[in-house]
Amino acid sequence: FLQIQDINKQFVNQNTASTVLSDINLDIKEGEFVSILGPSGCGKSTLLSIVAGLTKPTSGEILLNGQRITKPGKDRGMVFQQAALFPWMTVEENVMFPLRKQMKKKEAKELAHHFLQKVQLSNYTKHSPHELSGGMQQRVAIARALSMNPKVLLMDEPFGALDEQTRSRLHHELEKIWLETKKTILFVTHSISESIKLSDRIIVMGTRPGVILEDIQVRIPRPRAQHPQMTAKLEEKI
Ligand code: ATP
Ligand code: MG
Repeated sequence: FLQIQDINKQFVNQNTASTVLSDINLDIKEGEFVSILGPSGCGKSTLLSIVAGLTKPTSGEILLNGQRITKPGKDRGMVFQQAALFPWMTVEENVMFPLRKQMKKKEAKELAHHFLQKVQLSNYTKHSPHELSGGMQQRVAIARALSMNPKVLLMDEPFGALDEQTRSRLHHELEKIWLETKKTILFVTHSISESIKLSDRIIVMGTRPGVILEDIQVRIPRPRAQHPQMTAKLEEKI
């Protein structure tokens, strides 16, 4: 479904090249919830950005349903660490914005409301982003990404900037959305507990240069709580 093939990435700065990703290969199944776990600087965001089509790999390719990806597209929804909402638009306008290119205003509004309801923000459609908490803004970003009906949801530490309680609430919401929609999710995090709680599969990356160290299936029934054995095993790898 989503194939990451022989990806290498070097950044060249003042004539010195540094290798950030080295021979990354991954085959991701449709509907899989995959975490990419690894220490700061191992190249997680770079890999996600390559899958998004925002960064060009030095070599290798990304295939989605057999089609080569070279630029961003509506088949891939992105959610970043910061919600990146337009501050001059209301919540509903933020969600409607990317939809307006492909449908009438009325339909876009209906769809926006449908997804805002999924993230429990029906009462905030007319608010400005600055009137919302960080967690609520992140939920708007998730609604915006989902409303485009992407094949893959790419999330780069989407809850990294939130407090523990809000994060845990959003874990629950994201899990619910995933169980409902069975979207393929690629979820970047450096939190072991987050990866165990949410994903079917954990890809552990190592640094210098970025490589895949482990590819682990998580076979713990949902909803998941802490799992000390698996945590200990992952702590050893990172
Ligand atoms: P974190 O957990 O801190 O977000 P990460 O795993 O997401 O880290 P990346 O942001 O992918 O790491 O960065 C990996 C390496 O690539 C870092 O050493 C970084 O300095 C380097 N890097 C990333 N983007 C660029 C760029 N545009 N130009 C040069 N070097 C870059
Ligand atoms: Mg990053």
